[in-house]
Amino acid sequence: MDLPPAPNGLYNRWNLALHWGNCSGPNCHVRNNLLKCGACRAVYYCGGAHQRAHRPQHKSSCNLIKNARAQLAQEEAALRARPGDMFLEANPFETARGSFWRFTPTRPYMQARFDLISTLLNIKTGAAVEEALEHSLDMLQLNPGDNQGIRSHVPALYLRLGRDQEAYDFIKWYGTIGAQSGYEWGNPESPFLNLHDEDVFEPLGGIAKALFDLSIIVSLVNVKVRLLLDIRGLEKEFNKPAKRNTSYEKKMEWVRENATCDVLYKRRDIVERTEWTDLVAALESQAKEVFDRVEGRNKHYWPALRSPELHAAAIPTAYSPGSPEEVKLVFRNTWYSWAECPPAHELVKSWHAA
Ligand SMILES: [Zn+2]
Ligand SMILES: [Zn+2]
Repeated sequence: MDLPPAPNGLYNRWNLALHWGNCSGPNCHVRNNLLKCGACRAVYYCGGAHQRAHRPQHKSSCNLIKNARAQLAQEEAALRARPGDMFLEANPFETARGSFWRFTPTRPYMQARFDLISTLLNIKTGAAVEEALEHSLDMLQLNPGDNQGIRSHVPALYLRLGRDQEAYDFIKWYGTIGAQSGYEWGNPESPFLNLHDEDVFEPLGGIAKALFDLSIIVSLVNVKVRLLLDIRGLEKEFNKPAKRNTSYEKKMEWVRENATCDVLYKRRDIVERTEWTDLVAALESQAKEVFDRVEGRNKHYWPALRSPELHAAAIPTAYSPGSPEEVKLVFRNTWYSWAECPPAHELVKSWHAA
C-alpha cells in the first residue's frame, strides 16, 4: 500500500471516492507540497497552473465560501463584543453554551455558521467535508436542542470521511439517550453525544424505532450495509481451508486495502475469527429491517437513489413527512454518502429492485 493513512490512522478513506489531500486540478494526482486556495481554504493545488485551470469551475463556490466566512467572522465578532443585557449575558460562548438559540441575539451568528456549512458542502474534498463536520458538531454543543436541524446531515458526513464508528455512536445516541421522553435538552448537565466505540454489530434493539429523523435512519442503513460488505469480503477471502491459519496481521492488511468502513480497525475479536457466516446473516437482516423502515416512512427515498439527477434540484423550505419534498431534503443530506461508496449504493439499489 503506497497511500498514507489519513490523520486519524484510517486507510479506508482511500476506498471511498471523496478526494483526499490531492490537487483539484484536472486529472491531477499530486499529493505533495500542495498549496491551499487562499480564498476558500477548501481545495488544494500542486501549483498556479492547475489553480488557474480549475478556476472557471471553482470560482462560484469559492466566492460563496469566502463571503460566508466573512459574514461569520463579522457575526462572531459582534457577538463577542456584545455587552451583557437583558437579552443575553456578556461572553455568550461561555455563559450561553448549551442553549444558544434560546437567546435571540445569537441567531444571526448561528445562521451565518449554518450558511458556511452549506457552502462548504458544495465542495467535494476531504478538507471541506471535515470542516463542515467540525462546524456542525460544535454548533450542536452550543445548542443541543438543534433548532436548525444540523444533526440530520452529521452521520452522512462521518460516513463520507470513512468514520463509520463515530457515525454509529452518534446515531445510537439519538436512538437511545436522545430519544428518552424525559431528556432535558436545556440542561447543560445532561449527557450529550457521550457514546463512544459502541458495538456496531449489536442487534437493533429499539434504536431504529426510536429514531425520528429520516436522514439519520437512512445513515443507519448505510452504516450496517458498509459493515456487511466488509464482513462479506472477509468471509469470501479467508473462510476457505487454505486460508484458515492466516495471521491477524495478514488479515488486517486485507482490511486496510479493501474495507470501506473503519469499524474493523478496533475489532481484533472479529478479524481473528475464521468464519463470519453468522455475522453476515445478522448484519443483513438488521440492514434490511432499517431499509424497510425507511421505505415505510417515505416510499420516495429508495427510488431517488436510482435517479439522483431528479432530486438534486432546489430544496423546498416546507414539506410534510412521507412527501416527495421531504425526500429532496433527505437526499441532499445523504446522497454523497452513497455515491462515494459505490458497493453500498449498488447493494441498496438491488434491494429496492427486488
Ligand atoms: Zn477556493
Ligand atoms: Zn495539479
